[in-house]
Amino acid sequence: MNKKIVNNYGSFDITFVKAKGSTMWDKKDKKYIDFIAGIGVNCLGHNYKPLVRAISRQAKRQIHISNYYFSDVGVEYAEELLEVTGFNHGYFGNSGAEANEAAIKLARKYGQLNGGDKRKTIVTLESSFHGRTIATLTATGQKRFHPDCFAPYLSGFKTIKANDFEALKTAFDDTTAALFIECIQGEGGVNLIDPVWAKNAADAARKAGAIVMADEVQTGIGRTGIFLASDRLGFNPEVVTLAKGIAGGIPMGACLFRGKASDVLVAGDHQSTFAGNPLACAAAKVVLETVSDYDFLDRVNNAGDYIRGAISGWNIPIVKDIRGSGLMIGIQIDSSIKPFDIEVCCLEEGLCTTTAGSDVIRFLPPLTISDREIEEGLAIFKKVLQSFCK
Ligand SMILES: *Cc1c(COP(=O)(O)O)cnc(C)c1O
Repeated sequence: MNKKIVNNYGSFDITFVKAKGSTMWDKKDKKYIDFIAGIGVNCLGHNYKPLVRAISRQAKRQIHISNYYFSDVGVEYAEELLEVTGFNHGYFGNSGAEANEAAIKLARKYGQLNGGDKRKTIVTLESSFHGRTIATLTATGQKRFHPDCFAPYLSGFKTIKANDFEALKTAFDDTTAALFIECIQGEGGVNLIDPVWAKNAADAARKAGAIVMADEVQTGIGRTGIFLASDRLGFNPEVVTLAKGIAGGIPMGACLFRGKASDVLVAGDHQSTFAGNPLACAAAKVVLETVSDYDFLDRVNNAGDYIRGAISGWNIPIVKDIRGSGLMIGIQIDSSIKPFDIEVCCLEEGLCTTTAGSDVIRFLPPLTISDREIEEGLAIFKKVLQSFCK
């Protein structure tokens, strides 16, 4: 069965027509459990009533006005987001890459103001992922994202190995503008960053005169069972970037600043036509108010622990490691099997997953996923994994 499916698939020939909670239906009315949530975007699940209501209501009031003016809902949302996260200022964008572009520009300007033309380098981590624009691709610490066809890439980026204490001795100097940490490497394989290393790295970067930035495009907004994963790692970044789950499915990103990064960007430095429009902010407000609740985050932690524990309890030999935090979960598979083949079989059986790195299956289900949907999804996943154990 497995080989046949793989040989016949170029892309997934599935057309979805409706969804509710963490369940989706295709045009043939086949049901799928959603363990991927549009790559961690639909954090409140599909057709979540308060979100649908807020979007509909805002659409009737005003969808877009540009940043020439303020919207009431935009101002309210910014105040609430800064209050929950403990940052001083924010810039809104429309995607993760764009939020990271803002952070990169901020870092370069910070470097210029605090060391002149030579302090421009941004240090990122090997195996990281920061986006698909030229600057964020360059920042991405994975060779496979730097094909020759898109060259030349930008200068002023350097990568170091995460969790390598030795690397910190020579990583930063008076040419370093910023250290940019992806708090858990999602695309790179759901790789955890050691909190002690993160703090040491941040200390070393600051000692060299640099600022510290966190890419929380995937880990932010409650994904890991805490509103910001950097708060659990404890390295206290001056800049954090958010996107994916921020507005429950409406495109949006944010770059938040504090401390030494607070007053770097001024009017005119970075702008976007669509950014922070009232429709996106109305959606983001519902997400923020739902996800920042302590009991909600507790449930995310428990659900994640439950899923990791269940898979571990199956003792399936091709499973080499199960890792992650909250509902950001990576299952490392024996290198003789392509995770893509497992993804394809899961789809065939009615479960949406994705891959990460070279040997990992990744789950990013809606944070609202029900116990029943978890059980249904896990039953499919178990059956598929067992079918590969021959
Ligand atoms: C998805 C992702 C991005 C890019 O976000 P887009 O919205 O696709 O531009 C950047 N950083 C991380 C950590 C991501 O997971």
